[in-house]
Amino acid sequence: MTNVHYSCDIKAEESQIGVLTGMKLHEYQAKEIFSKEGIPTPNGHLVDSADEIPKAMRAVTGPPWVVKAQVHAGGRGKAGGVKVARNSYEVAVATEGMLGKPLATKQTGGDGIKVTKVLIEDGVEIDREFYLGMVVDRETRMPTMIFSQAGGMEIEEVAARTPGLILKEHINPITGWLPYQAGNLIYSLDPLPSPGVRKGLASVMANVYKVFIANDCSMVEINPLVVTKDGKVIAVDAKMTIDDNALFRQKDLIELDDPNEKDPLELKAEKYNLNYIRLDGNVGAMVNGAGLAMATMDVIKAAGAAPANFLDVGGGANEEMISKGFEIILLDRRVRAILINIFGGILRCDVLARGVVAAAKTKSIRVPLIVRLEGTNVEEGRKILQESGLKFLVAKDLAEVAELVSKQVQGM
Ligand code: GDP
Ligand code: MN
Repeated sequence: MTNVHYSCDIKAEESQIGVLTGMKLHEYQAKEIFSKEGIPTPNGHLVDSADEIPKAMRAVTGPPWVVKAQVHAGGRGKAGGVKVARNSYEVAVATEGMLGKPLATKQTGGDGIKVTKVLIEDGVEIDREFYLGMVVDRETRMPTMIFSQAGGMEIEEVAARTPGLILKEHINPITGWLPYQAGNLIYSLDPLPSPGVRKGLASVMANVYKVFIANDCSMVEINPLVVTKDGKVIAVDAKMTIDDNALFRQKDLIELDDPNEKDPLELKAEKYNLNYIRLDGNVGAMVNGAGLAMATMDVIKAAGAAPANFLDVGGGANEEMISKGFEIILLDRRVRAILINIFGGILRCDVLARGVVAAAKTKSIRVPLIVRLEGTNVEEGRKILQESGLKFLVAKDLAEVAELVSKQVQGM
């Protein structure tokens, strides 16, 4: 795929900033990188147990302090994952209230993510809050700085309500970020900040671009970027997502990956090199090729159902990968029907069939299975499935797939 680097257009970005693919860093990790690149952040100390609170209190100055749950999701403030504390007792109560418990925010959905690390920071006195972010705009294929004086709010909300308050600067990668571009953004502010604050903002913008490029980010976001009562510009929040395709040359960043944050099924898929993403629906799907996978999602939706996952086993899948992929779908408790849609080219239908049969031997199939097989060795593939004793419905084409899915989801 040639265009994956530009995997994020700005419109999708505004509505989906929290769900960008890529390797997400924790706030405390992003802040360490920011700090090294000259972006001011509050003093802070990370704890993973209540025993460490006294040590943390010696490392920060306060009062006030801010106690922040470290999970890969925004919207923590509204969900109780960010608390301001005025004394050490409140710090302890807030920290113990978060550690070991799940935090569900608008972005995590469902049961949330278990908090295993908490950041204790010096609180700042906020005078103004801005939004500052950077992504790659797919249309112009340029890194793009996004700035708004409606900081602190979710950018999706700002985009929906007051799109005029979102300003953008495209960056030519050859010239890099230029000072006049900071001017364009900063001189749009009303009221205009003092010269000292303007200088602080310009410096953060230039450094955000540096961080973005040096770390192969697909997204950097500071929300809010704060002006304190004493006129300092500080990144109070920090989000960074690293482009997966660049991880081969970002060895230090790979170390920062936190397996705690991952969906267990996605983690298993990663282990077997399967291209798997969990979705919200209940029709499990195993497909080969990203294009066919997307078409299959459409067919499932057109049939009035919703896919439980995206699983592209790819052209080079072997029997073990197929079998593990099928097993992952079987492990997903929400799945009410399974669809296998394979157009065999490099992936032969007999290999597919053997993989499916192997998985069915280890896990029982408790839901209807719909199979559409075409292409290389299709006869052999069908024969293997038939002789295995597996119960399944056969679809000859996508229209029949839609019909069968639609029948299966009725009353689900
Ligand atoms: P998010 O909700 O996950 O985006 O977490 P944030 O780090 O953005 O924190 C949520 C909100 O808490 C911010 O928008 C601020 O309004 C507030 N907040 C965070 N840190 C401080 C601080 O040091 N002082 C004050 N007064 N408010 C803070
Ligand atoms: Mn935030």
